[in-house]
Amino acid sequence: MKDFETLLAESVTVHGHLCAGQVIGVRMSMLALQRIGIDDPRGADRKKLYVLVEIDRCATDAIQAVTGCSLGKRSMYFHDFGVMAATYVNLETGRAVRVTAREEARDLADKYCREGGDKYSRQLEAYKVMAEDELFVVQDVTVDIPAVNLPGRPLKRVQCSRCHDWVQDAREIERDGELLCRSCAFGRYYRVVATAE
Ligand SMILES: [Zn+2]
Ligand SMILES: [Zn+2]
Repeated sequence: MKDFETLLAESVTVHGHLCAGQVIGVRMSMLALQRIGIDDPRGADRKKLYVLVEIDRCATDAIQAVTGCSLGKRSMYFHDFGVMAATYVNLETGRAVRVTAREEARDLADKYCREGGDKYSRQLEAYKVMAEDELFVVQDVTVDIPAVNLPGRPLKRVQCSRCHDWVQDAREIERDGELLCRSCAFGRYYRVVATAE
């Protein structure tokens, strides 16, 4: 695996700025990949790796940069839980690890980095050198990943009987014998103003 500084620089390029989230995301990914036996995530091991993230914040971009996993490749899954945690799965061996960033690490920053800058830049520098067990909770876990969430061609495509949108990957809802898209089943996140002719 590449070293921390190289991975951090790559992640900053992807994310657009250096921040504490990049340091956290790179470090948690390095730790996790080592623990599940993935050495070359973007090369030889790229088809073996799957990541489930629990937050859509800075660290998620770092996780994408280090692992090469993404929503578009379907090698990343987003659980919108608002928790700074991610689970890394070796699809070949089934070995999986969930890493959570410790909230207490924020207050430990002063122990590692006393001077210079504001609280956030001191945290950023501290996270680079802080001991792994002060920064993270690490759990060995097992994860069942449904076949419809894995990379590859859609296993299923059905048409919503109300709005006629096509729904892939078994996200349709069956209700009273009717197949519905989620918008028709649960309500829309948007309001239509006009449909182009
Ligand atoms: Zn950021
Ligand atoms: Zn519909």
